Amino acid sequence: MPTITAREVAVIGAGAAGLVAARHLRREGHSVVVFERESQVGGTWIYTNKTEPDPIGVDQTRPVVQSSLYASLRTNLPRESMSLREYPFVAKKSGHRDPRRFPGHREVLEYLKDYASEFAIGELVRFDTEVSRVSQRENGKWEVRSIQRKEDEEHIEEAFDAVVVCTGHYTDPRIAQIPGADRWPRKQIHSHNYRIPEPFRDQVSCELDLLWVVVIIGSSASAVDISREVASVAKEVHIASWSTSNEEGQNLPGYDNIWLRPMVESANEDGSISFQHGFKIFADIILYCTGYKYNFPFLDTKGIVTVDDNRVGPLYKHVFPPSLAPWLSFVGLPWKIAPFPQFELQSEWIAGILSGRISLPLKDEMMKDVESFYASLEASGVPKRYTHNMTGYQFEYNDWIATQCGCPKTEEWRKKMYNAASLSRKERPETYRDEWVDGDLVLQANQDFMKQLE
Ligand code: FAD
Repeated sequence: MPTITAREVAVIGAGAAGLVAARHLRREGHSVVVFERESQVGGTWIYTNKTEPDPIGVDQTRPVVQSSLYASLRTNLPRESMSLREYPFVAKKSGHRDPRRFPGHREVLEYLKDYASEFAIGELVRFDTEVSRVSQRENGKWEVRSIQRKEDEEHIEEAFDAVVVCTGHYTDPRIAQIPGADRWPRKQIHSHNYRIPEPFRDQVSCELDLLWVVVIIGSSASAVDISREVASVAKEVHIASWSTSNEEGQNLPGYDNIWLRPMVESANEDGSISFQHGFKIFADIILYCTGYKYNFPFLDTKGIVTVDDNRVGPLYKHVFPPSLAPWLSFVGLPWKIAPFPQFELQSEWIAGILSGRISLPLKDEMMKDVESFYASLEASGVPKRYTHNMTGYQFEYNDWIATQCGCPKTEEWRKKMYNAASLSRKERPETYRDEWVDGDLVLQANQDFMKQLE
């Protein structure tokens, strides 16, 4: 039996990833402090009608709003798929809860609060405390500099054996580079700052010729939801994406004011927008649904960990920088996944490695693994910015970590359900949240959940 060593660990962020990391670190016997700049747990899932003053988020000195949720958001995964492995996300019948299978955002926040309270994680969290700098001292310890926003605003510096970064990656807008956009005279916003459709209705009159023409860039899950919502108050919505094959564009079936267009070629000083293959319109607003950038403004690793074209690296299995492992780690970088259960596996792995119960390969071996992963992406033509996109292999990855940890692999129903949800989201974007065909999988999930709750 290896000797188990308890460490002093700082977790940055008390969103889902930070809560899960704190739970697993403490369960392993480590002593944990969670730093959270908000005054409650939940991260992304804390809806706010506040938006940032720079609507496209280019100004790096702007006051940051963490959440990118819009008011009407319902989950795009069924609750069983989102569910943490050790804490079932079952429908609760009480009055203020949302029992739907694809619930609204408030229900997810409630679930995370329930989880935090079930495992008494709140007592580990320092709220209203922003981490401003993380760096390594000469003796190898990590110095965490933080500021308590509600009290004297003094900086505090503390030393930890290890730091786990859980600060999320849906906060810093990524903007498509459109020639001429900087001189385009009309409004531009990123979906990070979209909350409700009403501002897209002309303020003065609702006559058709005064309603807004909106250009949406991107074809993500948010673009799909927001375009339908905006179309209910705008004159026309034109969705520009690389995936539109029709040269002129076409009407979205079922909507007479939504158009699928090819990518935008330029934004012009006269207020018009030119699309590829020649189509041109005058528009009132460009809404970017073009994703987000990884950003760790507090992290100083002396250049060891960088963000290069949205690749956070070098990282062994998206978690450990080989030359700083295991003392610095990241939970929650991958995307196109079911995040919560993956957070659990990554956290359990980190906790076990820090205690000495699980071992990591040598630094050089980890580095070789990272290099061969990057080479495989390049050979398959995957752009660098998709390094953490796990389309098609999240469960293989999760099962690999589960094996390292000696814990059960992903349940078969979970894999099938994730794939079924992805397919129905694509095929039936308007109805997939309320009509589904995987009732047998729901049954299996609930049977598993009931066993856990007994
Ligand atoms: P976050 O929730 O962003 O938490 C990060 C925390 O770190 C925050 O509390 C923040 O305040 C804190 N923080 C950041 N910097 C500092 C600092 N310097 N000092 C102190 N604290 C700091 N997932 C699903 O499973 N299902 C869905 O349907 C789904 N829909 C989504 C829809 C949208 C529009 C978005 C944006 C995301 C969606 N997700 C969904 C993904 C969602 O982001 C994850 O589920 C998850 O909540 C991410 O958790 P996190 O802890 O990694 O990050």
